[in-house]
Amino acid sequence: MEDAPRGKSGEIRRVLVTNDDGVLAEGLWALAGAFLKRGGTEVWVVAPDRERSASGHSISIHHPIEVCERPSGTPRLHVYATSGTPADCVKLALSGLLPEKPAITVSGINRGPNLGQDVFYSGTVSAALEAALGGVDAIAVSVAAFEQVEYDFAAHFAVTVAERVLRGALNGEVRRPGGRPILLNINVPAVRPEDVAGVAITRLELTRPRDFFRKRQDPFGRCWYWMAGEAYQGDTVSDTDVSAVSRNLISITPLKLDLTDTEAFVELSEVTRDLLGLLGYDHLRGADTGE
Ligand code: MN
Repeated sequence: MEDAPRGKSGEIRRVLVTNDDGVLAEGLWALAGAFLKRGGTEVWVVAPDRERSASGHSISIHHPIEVCERPSGTPRLHVYATSGTPADCVKLALSGLLPEKPAITVSGINRGPNLGQDVFYSGTVSAALEAALGGVDAIAVSVAAFEQVEYDFAAHFAVTVAERVLRGALNGEVRRPGGRPILLNINVPAVRPEDVAGVAITRLELTRPRDFFRKRQDPFGRCWYWMAGEAYQGDTVSDTDVSAVSRNLISITPLKLDLTDTEAFVELSEVTRDLLGLLGYDHLRGADTGE
């Protein structure tokens, strides 16, 4: 698959739009619509045919994936609904549904926040991660509200960021460390656009939120459990995503795919030097480090 041509101005020729709320979700169409308003942009929607929230980065390998192309009414819009997960959708899109790599993948706009540890469970964020694994710049966008969600502002914000990031990357203003794709997780606070307090570049808040399960009995006396949880408390002022959104700031967290703990890498290299010696395999000592 060839890389997509990008205009010098950073204009986006082809965008992949996906989500985890399903192909009928309002947030997805706010996003697709905002990109279509940009004259030359071609929008490819490849999204799950049903709600797939909290499906994480799961993929389908034990059963086939149905793909259904839907009429769009305009040559600049292509729509595919799949029976797969968000990660499946992105894999499919990058492996042949699209004629060439998209300039960028945008996932959302999710109904509800994806902050802190949510990124490990979120289908919205996983779709963006999958695009980045495929070498494509990607943005995940969520609105931190579940009712009366205002998607249009978040959609236009996402399009502006997408254009700015691409333009910056082309002009060298935005560095791609190691040549890696740019991967952003955006959360828009649940306030009216005029009440947004600003934009913050943030890090993930990894303080563990309180998990709990509701326990009930069914009519036959058997117990069932339903996972609930407590909303994040962003009561301190810090540089985290949770804190930013609680202060009505739009949070932009740059993510990277490499989960390797580089400090532990160095320490473990020392500690494990004699492991095979301890087991009596002295002759294998250091073999894996080439010593
Ligand atoms: Mn969702």
